[in-house]
Amino acid sequence: MKAIKQKYLFVFYFCLMQTAFVYGQTPYPQNYFRYPLDSLPNLVSPFGSLRDNHFHSGMDLRTNGREGLPVYAAADGFISRIKVQKNGYGKAIYIEHANGYSTVYGHLQKYHGAIAEWIHKYQYINKTFEFDKIFMKPFLLVKKGDTIGFSGNSGGSTGPHVHFEIRNSQTEKTLNPALFGIIPFDTLYPIITKIHVYKFVQEGLLLKKQIDLSSKNVIDVGFGPQWKDTLVLSSETFAFGLEAFDYIHNGRDEKGIYMYSLNHNSVPVFSHTLNEFAFDETKYINAHLDYAWYKLQKQRIQKCFISDGNLLGTYFTYGNKGKITPKIGEMGELMFWVQDNNKHTTSLRVIYKTVGTSQDADKLSYEQSIWGKRPILPGKSQTIVAPGLEIKMDPKSVYDTVYYELKVNPTPTNAFSEEYNFHTPLVPIHASFDIAIKPVACPVGLEKKLVLAYGNPKADNYNSIGGSYDKGWVRGKGSNFGNYTLLLDTIPPSIKWSKYKNDYDDSDTLRWDFDIRDNLSGISKYEAFLNEQWVLLDYDAKNHIVTYQWDEVLKQTAQKLWSSSMLEGEVPTVTMKIIVSDAKGNKQEREFRLMLPQNF
Ligand SMILES: [Zn+2]
Repeated sequence: MKAIKQKYLFVFYFCLMQTAFVYGQTPYPQNYFRYPLDSLPNLVSPFGSLRDNHFHSGMDLRTNGREGLPVYAAADGFISRIKVQKNGYGKAIYIEHANGYSTVYGHLQKYHGAIAEWIHKYQYINKTFEFDKIFMKPFLLVKKGDTIGFSGNSGGSTGPHVHFEIRNSQTEKTLNPALFGIIPFDTLYPIITKIHVYKFVQEGLLLKKQIDLSSKNVIDVGFGPQWKDTLVLSSETFAFGLEAFDYIHNGRDEKGIYMYSLNHNSVPVFSHTLNEFAFDETKYINAHLDYAWYKLQKQRIQKCFISDGNLLGTYFTYGNKGKITPKIGEMGELMFWVQDNNKHTTSLRVIYKTVGTSQDADKLSYEQSIWGKRPILPGKSQTIVAPGLEIKMDPKSVYDTVYYELKVNPTPTNAFSEEYNFHTPLVPIHASFDIAIKPVACPVGLEKKLVLAYGNPKADNYNSIGGSYDKGWVRGKGSNFGNYTLLLDTIPPSIKWSKYKNDYDDSDTLRWDFDIRDNLSGISKYEAFLNEQWVLLDYDAKNHIVTYQWDEVLKQTAQKLWSSSMLEGEVPTVTMKIIVSDAKGNKQEREFRLMLPQNF
């Protein structure tokens, strides 16, 4: 009797939570924020969609494959931050509003009006394209609907769109804009395509079975869609994962889902709801998903259970963190629920029966797989050494106990240390670890040009992960298991004149473009001088392009030169000197003699 009471009490409590957070009198103001574009809400990607190493922190607003659409302030407020980056959000604006929330607009092509003027001046005064300026007090004010900039594709964006966020101004947590009523029209229900069954063997986890839910395997006997077979489990600890997708009405783009949950015999045991998260939580996506499966199969299984080291705050669990241990001879019901941002809900029912304990090939093979290996434990800092190698794991480096392998291989061609094969990239790293490698046979005097290089053991290429030389070691940060070695970077970046063509915007031709690239350590400095005078370069890192947008410096130079050359009958030219350095201080310099534009 007592157990039943508790169960009902619990169900009631769970419903209450769902009501408070999902349906009912939400604390989120409705109709306060307008959609920041002229169109109706239309998304390329919703809040929380599953990305590499992060959940999508905002909504990606569709701009129909174009740049240059006006972007409007979503509500009254003041500009609280302007950030310009060669990657990331590119040209971004943050607005703080009086209701405790801030809005963010990323990947802009350019800024507008007084904001644009302020930024241009700031960049010239500080001689920098990239900056991150926070305004503590209202300075640049905006009204709801004011144009703040124009949509673009700047920074890390791979196609034109506006990245839009609503944040809590105090906590800096990012919130699902759908909670504020910004929801695109959608008639399609989410679909569950597969259920995955996991079995726990000590602290290890084995993927036991995939349930394919294509329509031929699904029936309806009055409880909604149900898997046509019965799942057979032994009386041990199991957990589940699901693959689910949501499409909006046009069915073109795959969207993330808003919520999913699991009930076991009508008791909620797990749910995950994308209302809000903090930026330092977003990398927990690697514990949220079956990471190895994603790396191998490129399919994202969302777990219905929580690893010990997973501190993402989007979960609700009851009992054993989503795991269940059925009793011998039991028949039971698993009910999976998936919901999109428009509250379309899809369920799936799976009936299971238990058949005693299987004694136990799984346990044996697991024990064999970890035989003789040492563990890395979550929650502990731990030092791992080998000849010429020192690694210090962060307490938050791993989510679960990892029995690791460490092999020392001979020095690869062109490398300046042994190759260290540190476990497998199929296991995720959360907080990066300190890594130090001792150089071998590095030419004297070039030690400062060494970089730590990371490579996937199966690929033959290495990428620089930075690092710096200090007292006989090259020290830096590792953020993956895999292969590490040292390489030498003595080659400066290249600089070329470029006839760069922006496929998404051909209106803007008042510019000169240069192609800049580096072979290893990456570009760290870029500068341009027009007739010896510093001028601003925009840097679009993904396209390897720096751009001089013709501005007042060229205008003034042109006025002077045109008037004097008219007397002498020459075609006036200017000199553009471009100087680019990489992270190891290798410097390249080139001068371009350019004809002055006539109609400028
Ligand atoms: Zn985005």
